[in-house]
Amino acid sequence: MSEIKVEKAKTLKEKPDFSKLGFGKYFTDHMFTAQFNEKDGWHDLKITPFGYIPIHPASTVLHYGAEIFEGMKAYKTVDGYQMFRPFENLARMNNSAERLCLPAIPEDMWINALTELINLDYDWIPDLTGTSLYIRPFMFGNDETLGVHAVHNATFVIILSPVGNYYAEGLNPVKISIENHDVRAVRGGTGYAKCGGNYAASLRAGKRAEEKGISQVLWLDGVERKYIEEVGSMNVMFKINGEIVTPELTGSVLPGITRKSCIELLKEKGYKVSERLISVEELGKAAESGALEEAWGTGTAAVVSPIGHLYYEGKDYVVSGNKIGKLTQELYDELTGIQWGRLPDKHGWCYKVKI
Ligand SMILES: *Cc1c(COP(=O)(O)O)cnc(C)c1O
Repeated sequence: MSEIKVEKAKTLKEKPDFSKLGFGKYFTDHMFTAQFNEKDGWHDLKITPFGYIPIHPASTVLHYGAEIFEGMKAYKTVDGYQMFRPFENLARMNNSAERLCLPAIPEDMWINALTELINLDYDWIPDLTGTSLYIRPFMFGNDETLGVHAVHNATFVIILSPVGNYYAEGLNPVKISIENHDVRAVRGGTGYAKCGGNYAASLRAGKRAEEKGISQVLWLDGVERKYIEEVGSMNVMFKINGEIVTPELTGSVLPGITRKSCIELLKEKGYKVSERLISVEELGKAAESGALEEAWGTGTAAVVSPIGHLYYEGKDYVVSGNKIGKLTQELYDELTGIQWGRLPDKHGWCYKVKI
């Protein structure tokens, strides 16, 4: 593996007010890039000042959408920082890469690139409650030809963005509309891959929901439009009659690392967790009868996000009286406790780096 060349920024940017970060609006002083071709493998690994990436107008990504990404976070600790389960993200990135015929990333390149870049931009890790450094690794097919083929050239990039709470309102219940027209993914497609194309297909439904003051869309399966899949950028969980139910990973659902971590924590708490198909009809009945006690989304950006309203075909189902459910709050506290280092990391989930 070649060394990472480092070109430091001559002037550093002014840092934003860490109490008003929002999500993904500010970027740090540096970024990591690497190039891939079949002859040399990964090469030209470098950290440079944050800036534009030159791209050929025929580049594969611009025409055929060959792009995958990851989302993870670094949290400031007393003597450095820690990342949450970064090797899970690598495994998923490489699964996504396999689906889109992009090259895999070796483990040493992944962790060296992440730590060298974050070490350099360490001062950008915000330290206020609820804030963290969001890490966005991404890769795109970069052949300079219009032919439609599996790509031979790719570019891998990591950018960093200090973030506050995902939702400006904080940990308040969100309104979710169950989408019955557009679909996000189908089995055999790219639903399980974290790829830009899935998002491109989801934007129209998201826009329509937003126009009605609804923050996100809950997708149904693409074939029968009957089974619950996931929310925009989150997996979804329901507490029904004391049991936790979450859609199984059928191939069209993104395998969330927050989802996986929540399942482990819930099982340790003694909850029965069922990963199974759940129909929108079953969910509606559970909401009407009061059996649906809590509902929440899980994802790196928002961590655990309570759901207060579910809209479907003109009906408005209120969940937990539009308040944060007790278990939702417990999960949020436990997971963020581990991530920010306030609680012991019994599972060895955190990758600690000393500065
Ligand atoms: C990233 C993502 C999630 C959440 O995954 P985490 O690993 O928990 O961040 C859920 N759904 C979609 C579509 C995603 O892109």
